[in-house]
This record gives sequence, structure tokens and C-alpha cells, in this order.
Amino acid sequence: MYRTMYDETIDTRLEETGLKEECGVFGIYDFDGNDVASTVYYGLFALQHRGQESCGIAVSETNGPKGKVTSHKGMGLVNEVFEPEHLEQMKGDIGVGHVRYSTAGASTRENAQPLVLNYVKGTLALAHNGNLINAVKLRHDLEYTGAIFQTTIDSEVIAYHIARERLNTKTVEDAVNRACQKIEGAYSLVVMSPRKLIGARDPFGFKPLCIGKRENSYIITSETCALDTIGAEFVRDVLPGETVTITPDGGIVSDLSRALPNEQEARCIFEYIYFARPDSHIDGVSVYASRIQAGRFLAMDSSVEADLVVGVPESGNAAALGYSLQSGIPYGTAFVKNGYVGRTFIKPKQSSRESSVKVKLNVLKEAVDGKRVIMIDDSIVRGTTSDRIVRMLREAGASQVHVRISSPPFLWPCYFGTDVPAREQLIAYNRSVEEIRELIGADSLGYLDIGRLRGMANGLPICTGCFNGNYPIAPPTEDIRGQYEK
Ligand code: SF4
Repeated sequence: MYRTMYDETIDTRLEETGLKEECGVFGIYDFDGNDVASTVYYGLFALQHRGQESCGIAVSETNGPKGKVTSHKGMGLVNEVFEPEHLEQMKGDIGVGHVRYSTAGASTRENAQPLVLNYVKGTLALAHNGNLINAVKLRHDLEYTGAIFQTTIDSEVIAYHIARERLNTKTVEDAVNRACQKIEGAYSLVVMSPRKLIGARDPFGFKPLCIGKRENSYIITSETCALDTIGAEFVRDVLPGETVTITPDGGIVSDLSRALPNEQEARCIFEYIYFARPDSHIDGVSVYASRIQAGRFLAMDSSVEADLVVGVPESGNAAALGYSLQSGIPYGTAFVKNGYVGRTFIKPKQSSRESSVKVKLNVLKEAVDGKRVIMIDDSIVRGTTSDRIVRMLREAGASQVHVRISSPPFLWPCYFGTDVPAREQLIAYNRSVEEIRELIGADSLGYLDIGRLRGMANGLPICTGCFNGNYPIAPPTEDIRGQYEK
């Protein structure tokens, strides 16, 4: 099913809920032969922030018949999709899991992952985080050679390529590598074959992927917080351009034939600014520390006299603390967030007196009354949410509201798995900072300087495409975002 990304529903939803991460992946292989489904379940719980629309688990017995995979997936949160009996029925010592976000129209059960693919060499299960920029062409080519697709996600293009390459390669990891040479864009993959667990990260390292170990089990997952949750120790990150193969005989076998020179890597800086959980580490950098650092940079570059620094929950909080530490202005809590606003939340109509922002967020009057407040948020997309939050602070008695943003202004769309929309819909497009300040009703406004971003990631090479249009890979000439679900 094809869809257009910029319909009204999606616009409104995105504005109200901020940017969306696309997916989280989790894979495990227990060399002692224990069932892994419940561990995948808890791993997905820890990755729920990366996708709330659908999820799934697929497991297999490495000593059982090749190709016998048990899977369950559905629409909703992990605790909505899985009942205890699902997990009890899922027998297998190797498994993969996935949580997914998609924009509204094409959010269907068929598109939930992991994808399970039966082919002549057995069965593959695949979980993908990211977005390919050449999926449309690859899919078109495959369809003209007889392929029939079950889903509308680009991840199926990857699965097909792996299956095809496997017919001409000695090992499944060679097939994964060859498929990865054909696909372009952002991908962190976990692939389960009958006897192997494989992880692969694109050469730019857009999306995170790491390896953990618990007793005799190995894990490959999006974020280290999932390792902590299941009591596994962190082993290392999967490197940009690396394919790792995990087996009882070989342990972790690395293939770096797809790696680029370090300086060409381009991690998505939004993982640090917003997407990842603050208790995760990505490529050796603490997400929490990077947000604190962003706040410190803002205080250095964009200082203002005030009585209180507050963060817009959740990702604004650490940056607000950093601002406070650097400036000496007290840090406080100004917002109470309703954590129960889930996927099925019925959005108030524009005519109604309830507002989505107010349902989700309320201001602590006692904290801000009569105070000059610095409010830190992670980004401004279209600006209407910022406008409402500033107004809420004023209504609660704040005498001044100074807004500081822990990222630079969005000026370009993203093609690599983040739904930064088209330029015309971005508040910063064709507007000065002063004009934006006026629109959101703040007393002053400051953004993080683009030159500071790399410092947030301890100097690692990063992608800055949505801020300056310098994409690490040439973007498609036509806007193909939205032609396939991510
Ligand atoms: S364009 Fe922006 S959102 Fe997209 S990968 Fe690059 S830094 Fe991340």
C-alpha cells in the first residue's frame, strides 16, 4: 500500500508528539539451548520508546528442524500484543524481536516485524531499524523478476536480497553482506538463520547496534538499556559497516569489508538529542552525558538572566540540568507529564476546549509563578506545540519565558528513518530566529549552534543533514519518503 506522508492526520500527530523514531531491534542466541522468547519480550519492553505501533517476536530451535520458526506479532505496545501463553508457546533458543513506529495510514499488522521468510535454504527472520533510499528501485527490479511482496516495508526488500544472495554464497553471513552492498541508506539489522544470529550496521552507522552477553547467551540490540534490563553485560558496539555472526563454535565473528574510513561515518545525532533512552550508551558515548553537554553549550553560547531552568520532559530535562550546571541558575521541575497517553489516545477535535498538549502536560504553578523561566526543549518542528507550552508557562505565572533548543533549527527533511518533514512545513524554513521567537511567543529564543553537535558525541563523526542539507549520501532526486513504510 502506497501512502502520502504529509496528510493532515500525520501532520497534526507529529506536531503533537514530536519526532518519531522508527524501530528497535533485539536478537538473542542461547548456546545452552534455553528458551529465549521471554527475554526478547523484556528486551522489547526496554526498547518501547523506539516504536509503539506494532511489535513482534520470532524464535526457532537450533537443534530442531531447519525452518521451523514460531512467531507472534501485532499492533500495539509490547504488553498489549503479548499474553503469557504466547510466550509459553514460543519454543526456541534463538530469536529476534522488533518494535516499530509507522505513520498512521500504513500502520498494518502485515507490516509488523520480524519478517519471516521461507526459502530453499531454510527460514530467515529479520528485524530492521532505519530507512533505505534505494528501496523503491530495488523493489521495482525484484518485482520485474517475479518477486511477490507480502508487505509494503523496505525491510522486505532486504530480506529478499539476502534470500537471493544465499543461493550463490557459502554462508548466510556472506549473503547478508552481499545484500548490504546493494542497499543504500540507514539500517541496523538483526537476522536469525536456523543456526546463526547475525547483526549488520550500515557503513555510516546512522542507527545504533550493540552486542551483549548473559551467561552463555549473546544478544544484538539497538540500545544498551535493553541489555541492562535483561541483566546482560555490554560487550561492544557493532561498528559502522560491520557484520557480526554469532555461533557457539565461532563466538562473535566480525566482517568489516563494508566499513568506510572513520571520517565518513555519520551517526544520526538525533539519537543523542532525543531518540535514545538517556541510560543508553551509543558508540561509547553516554546519551545522558551528551544531553547534559548540549545544555552546557547552550548556557555558554546563549546565556540569559533568569531564576529557573526547566526541561520539557523527557529529553529536555538532562539538557536543562546541563544548562543549570553551567550557568549556576537553579534547575527545577515545571511540568508534570501524563505517562498514560498511549497509542489509542483519541485526539481532541480542534473545536473542543481540551488540548492534546494539556492532556499530556501540565504546569506546576508553584514552581514557576513570578519567575523568569528558561525552558529547554530538544527541537522545534512546526512550532505549534512550543507556542502552547510557552503560553501554559505564562498562564501559570511565569514573568518571562526564554526558550532554548538543544539542537540547531531543522531546515531539511530526513531520508534515513526520522520523520523530519518537508522544508515548507518546518518553522525554521525561511524564517529568522527572531521571527520564530515571535511566533512561539517567547521572550528570547536560542538554538544549539551546529558547530557544537559533534562535541555532544565526543567528537565522533555525525550526520547533520536535517540542519544544513549536507547528507552523507546523496538524497533521492524525488521525495520517495512515504512510498514505502519504514
Ligand atoms: S538527517 Fe537528521 S534526523 Fe536524519 S539521520 Fe541525519 S541527523 Fe538524523
